[in-house]
Amino acid sequence: MQYRSTRDSNTQVTSAMAIKTGLAPDGGLFLPETVPQVSLSEIESLCGMTYNERAVDILSRFLTDFTQEEITTCVNRAYSREKFETEEIAPIFKLNQNTYFLELWHGPTCAFKDMALQILPHLLLKSIHKTGETKEVVILVATSGDTGKAALEGFKDVAGTRIIVFYPADGVSDIQKRQMVTQDGNNVDVAAVCGNFDDAQNGVKQIFTDKDYNEMLAQNGFMLSSANSINWGRLVPQVVYYFSAYANLVKNNEIKLGDKINFVVPTGNFGNILAAYYAKEMGLPVNRLICASNENNVLTDFIKTGVYDKNRGFKTTVSPSMDILISSNLERLLSLATNGDDGQVKAWMENLKSTGKYEVSAGVKQKILETFWGGFCDDDDTLDEINRVFRETSYVMDTHTAVAKRVLNQYAAETGDATKTVICSTASPFKFSDSVLTAIKGAPETGDAFTQLAELAETAQASIPKSLAELKTKPVIFRTTCEKDEMVDVVSQMLNLA
Ligand SMILES: *Cc1c(COP(=O)(O)O)cnc(C)c1O
Repeated sequence: MQYRSTRDSNTQVTSAMAIKTGLAPDGGLFLPETVPQVSLSEIESLCGMTYNERAVDILSRFLTDFTQEEITTCVNRAYSREKFETEEIAPIFKLNQNTYFLELWHGPTCAFKDMALQILPHLLLKSIHKTGETKEVVILVATSGDTGKAALEGFKDVAGTRIIVFYPADGVSDIQKRQMVTQDGNNVDVAAVCGNFDDAQNGVKQIFTDKDYNEMLAQNGFMLSSANSINWGRLVPQVVYYFSAYANLVKNNEIKLGDKINFVVPTGNFGNILAAYYAKEMGLPVNRLICASNENNVLTDFIKTGVYDKNRGFKTTVSPSMDILISSNLERLLSLATNGDDGQVKAWMENLKSTGKYEVSAGVKQKILETFWGGFCDDDDTLDEINRVFRETSYVMDTHTAVAKRVLNQYAAETGDATKTVICSTASPFKFSDSVLTAIKGAPETGDAFTQLAELAETAQASIPKSLAELKTKPVIFRTTCEKDEMVDVVSQMLNLA
């Protein structure tokens, strides 16, 4: 199967090439030229498989230039008991007769980014070998929190790769900073940048687009690559857990094979929910995909009106991983909804760049509404939902999952749809202890992040995830802080080129 660019269908590459390059040369995103189909009887056979076997089955349908053995190796390295706290990898929790949580946060960094970033390094490394590339890959990441740590954990000690993460000196939480500056591994580097996330992000972009610098790196045997969610290698592993969730519901007699279900996805960059749409297009029995946003509700408006308009104030919320105004992966949905009309997609993306806005045709809007429903809630509602669900069921949700739950309530009230629904639970509540304690108790007892972990453990009668508990005693390894315009020098020093 070939992959083509959303902005130019003449650009056709293998999946290995798509994963190696990340972004298409025309600025578009790669997507498979056809959507592989999965029959009901094939879904039935997934029921008897482990998560890893399911992953090999689904990934093989997309990565047709990889051998079964290569995919199996990548999958087993990524989803192991050593890395994940549960055998099931992505377990389901039943909240009530109609509602389930798909817990995607049992990996090493306690957020759903692990589901993709644990396997991406292995897929990338294989892709590099397959395309005849001999240079060492240097992954550059600018992070506002979750992605940096998940990428560090994914790439650490993966031979043939190096990873350098820049985080804004004052823009990440205590726990998130501790997670990064204590990172172990022989190929990792972390530096703080004076400034905010945009400064770090712009600095990284400048390094990527500096031709002379990249040539110098190439002469020294290095090539830069990226681990963010526009890379197909980060998206495709996410398709797996939608099939896996469905198979588990059938296996546990919660639904019958062929019954349709809904998914609610707390959405930022539109990566996770796009993976759900792929699952549906492949033949997974899905009724509706509910796109849940926080007060940065560009997507809610888009789904309702067909107008994407990012010209609005950026809001900082208690669900920071969804604070985003440009949802990059929406471009892939537009491509699917227009049957691959590359000229049209390109025009919309050019409008977005020049005016911050575009409007899709009535037909495309209708096509999107056939599957998607959009809603949002503010911080008060998010915290209220955590409190309500905890009081009623003792289940503790993190802030992102709570947005999804609240929007599901709105959806059910507005539509009366009683279809069984799976909520994607994207982070452990311990990662956001401060807000979760505020929701449940009014406020945490102290401002110290580690005391808060203990307080939440006691309140929720749950144990602190091992990887967060051990941060307290882990030595700080990285102390570099640099100015924005020094980032390139930091990269050179880290690669011993200075
Ligand atoms: C990244 C993230 C999201 C948003 O996922 P997208 O794929 O960007 O839509 C939601 N919740 C958490 C906890 C995240 O880290």
